[in-house]
Amino acid sequence: MTSASPATPAATRPVPRASALAIEAYVPGKSKAPAGVRLHKLSSNETPLGPSPAAIAAFRAAADGLEIYPDGQSRALREAIARANGLDPDRIVCGAGSDELLSLLAYAYLEPGDEGVFCEHGFLVYRIAILAAGGVPVVAPETDLTADVDAILSRVTDRTRIVYLANPNNPTGTYLPFDEVKRLHAGLPKTVLLVLDAAYAEYVRANDYAAGIELVAGAENVVMTRTFSKVYGLASLRIGWLYGPEGVVDVLNRIRGPFNLSGPAIAAGAAAIADRAHIEAAVDHNARWLPELTGALGALGLTVTPSVANFVLVRFPDAPGRTAKEADAFLTERGLILRSVASYGLPDALRLTIGDDEANRAVIAALGAFMRGDRG
Ligand SMILES: *Cc1c(COP(=O)(O)O)cnc(C)c1O
Repeated sequence: MTSASPATPAATRPVPRASALAIEAYVPGKSKAPAGVRLHKLSSNETPLGPSPAAIAAFRAAADGLEIYPDGQSRALREAIARANGLDPDRIVCGAGSDELLSLLAYAYLEPGDEGVFCEHGFLVYRIAILAAGGVPVVAPETDLTADVDAILSRVTDRTRIVYLANPNNPTGTYLPFDEVKRLHAGLPKTVLLVLDAAYAEYVRANDYAAGIELVAGAENVVMTRTFSKVYGLASLRIGWLYGPEGVVDVLNRIRGPFNLSGPAIAAGAAAIADRAHIEAAVDHNARWLPELTGALGALGLTVTPSVANFVLVRFPDAPGRTAKEADAFLTERGLILRSVASYGLPDALRLTIGDDEANRAVIAALGAFMRGDRG
């Protein structure tokens, strides 16, 4: 690392920190299909129902004030989030997507060389956030594509400052029961911040799951992050939020940009979270299709990891003509865009977002043809 130090006399231009250049830039899900084919984008876990009509109306109304700086405290949004979840608005921080908050946490808590831990098939943003802050990423192995509390705890050293856990995890769709999350927290030193990324919490119907609000309320070293990009259908607006202890809220409010959410985002987010009926419809649609898709794809001989979120991880055989890579090309030609997850260490799999009825039926039919070897 020292060889890339800005102090090197031979440098002829500004030199970024070495850990920043160790980052492989995030590659988003594809969104293109061949010309003339109806496109179903099932690659980024967006909702097929779109946002609440009330959110769209609020966004349009906000177009009348674009010359005015937004409220730097995002007060209307924090109050709407607090009302919907029974929380103290003063312990909520909003971000330009939860991605911004995940990065801000790394900047706030990692000194260069400090370690951040995350799971083997965990969300790629954690590695990026840790490296961008000058930290050292440490990977904990998983068991059955699921976070393993003992493995995470065994990776904690006296340099560890932060642990990221997506629960449920993307791209596997698996989750840790709340008892296991509490066991993880109990095993961590009080100086390590546990980040519970609950981007898909609204979709989970398992009785033993909790997003983590209760844990945050009683500890100084736990935060929960949430997003408006998934069930609320506002991915394009970039809205995330965090619920945390006073100390974390205070430092994030010091280091974040003073106007990190746009006015239209604040207005649309506040309207979206108040529309309970729209969220329920999205969750019901998902609950109907999750077992249906899992069963139908399993019946084709594919391995589908049981998921509690709005996507499934589908694993393909090794056999030529049946691989994940070939399936991806076959589906793309038919306008069905899934997510390759090779960069998550899962080269034999694709991630499928649950779409509308038409898209889901089309995926089942196309994968049936693919597995039969019917390339017509
Ligand atoms: C989609 C997703 C997010 C949300 O990111 P935003 O920046 O809020 O759009 C966060 N964490 C995980 C695990 C996700 O899959």
